[in-house]
Amino acid sequence: MTDFAATKAMFDLPEGVLYLHGNSLGPLPKAAQARVGEMLQSEWGQMLSTSWNKAGWMALPTELGDRIGRLIGGTPGSVMVGDTLSIKVYQAVASALELNPDRKVVLSDNGNFPSDLYMADGLLRSRGPGYELRVVDSEDVALHINEDVAVLMLTEVDYRTGRMHDMKALTELAHANGVVTVWDLAHSAGAVPVDLSGCNADFAVGCTYKYLNGGPGSPGFIYVAPSLSEQVRPALSGWLGHEAPFAFDLDYRPGSGIERMRVGTPPIIQMTALSTAIDIWEMADMTDVRAKSIELTELFVTRVEAECPELKLISPRDPLQRGSHISFQFTEAYAVMQALAARGVIGDFRAPDAMRFGFAPLYIDELDVENAVEILADIMQNRLWDAPEFKVRQRVT
Ligand SMILES: *Cc1c(COP(=O)(O)O)cnc(C)c1O
Repeated sequence: MTDFAATKAMFDLPEGVLYLHGNSLGPLPKAAQARVGEMLQSEWGQMLSTSWNKAGWMALPTELGDRIGRLIGGTPGSVMVGDTLSIKVYQAVASALELNPDRKVVLSDNGNFPSDLYMADGLLRSRGPGYELRVVDSEDVALHINEDVAVLMLTEVDYRTGRMHDMKALTELAHANGVVTVWDLAHSAGAVPVDLSGCNADFAVGCTYKYLNGGPGSPGFIYVAPSLSEQVRPALSGWLGHEAPFAFDLDYRPGSGIERMRVGTPPIIQMTALSTAIDIWEMADMTDVRAKSIELTELFVTRVEAECPELKLISPRDPLQRGSHISFQFTEAYAVMQALAARGVIGDFRAPDAMRFGFAPLYIDELDVENAVEILADIMQNRLWDAPEFKVRQRVT
């Protein structure tokens, strides 16, 4: 059984803050400061470039990949860490397309995160005429899976509503139609149990700064099914994905398996911070995390609906149909979120009118939820959001 009091104690959570925003940027692991400091001082500072070998820097992307793999049902050697999630989306969709050379449609849904759609669109345009990004309603995805489609590109958990796709069923349907799948786990990894192997997923991608708590700018990851990884061609064929990077050949030969999904020099400072976050994940069992997350989101929904009747739930009511964040709709959502932040309750606003709250059991407990609802109720019942200073839009919402 996961000891959530112990995991909570591993984070540096500021006094007076109720952090319901780990779905966007996870909090700082206490060990990160010392570990990154030590890495800077002794590895970068003293060992300099010998650290690529001696401190294991070059092995970090695969090592972290294996550790993340445990959380998403990926066997060792199936996950590579690096680059940003947007780049990993491009990389996965490009390789997936090449597995289906006679088809030209990438199917996605309008609940997907815009960056995924933008990256796919950019990729397809560079391929030339005839390629199409087909974006359909989230509820109708299954109806559009057919033998025209090359790649099904979906984000499992909707970033706005938390609505969750049925990964297993959709992957099965895709395969029955000869479609290659790319799953984005941005709001799944560390939020819900994921079983990529069990679902027979082909490709998956995700980020490490949301529920995984790797810190701002922490790299993304890509999963390639072991049955495909020796056969896929990497579109982003950088030198570190080469079979022998230090042979400096002029022609590209992909490295073995997941190694070919490396691109360039890994961000070691970020990866060092991420490794301290993954240490905490090693104290957790995803089944326990899911059970606790459902308890917390259920408590939040019930209490908010009782206290704040003006707010309309836009997340699925059935906890099994949603991830680990909850969204409510309100015309003055932005102002309410600003008023909440001024009282130490951090969540976010997603245009046009959604208030979004993330629930991460590693460091959020029932008392935090009760306290957050109490403040939200005060703000709603007394219209405390209705002040000019809460209506000024900032660069990041
Ligand atoms: C957060 C998120 C991103 C962000 O991509 P970055 O390249 O890391 O900025 C992309 N896709 C989805 C689905 C996300 O939730």
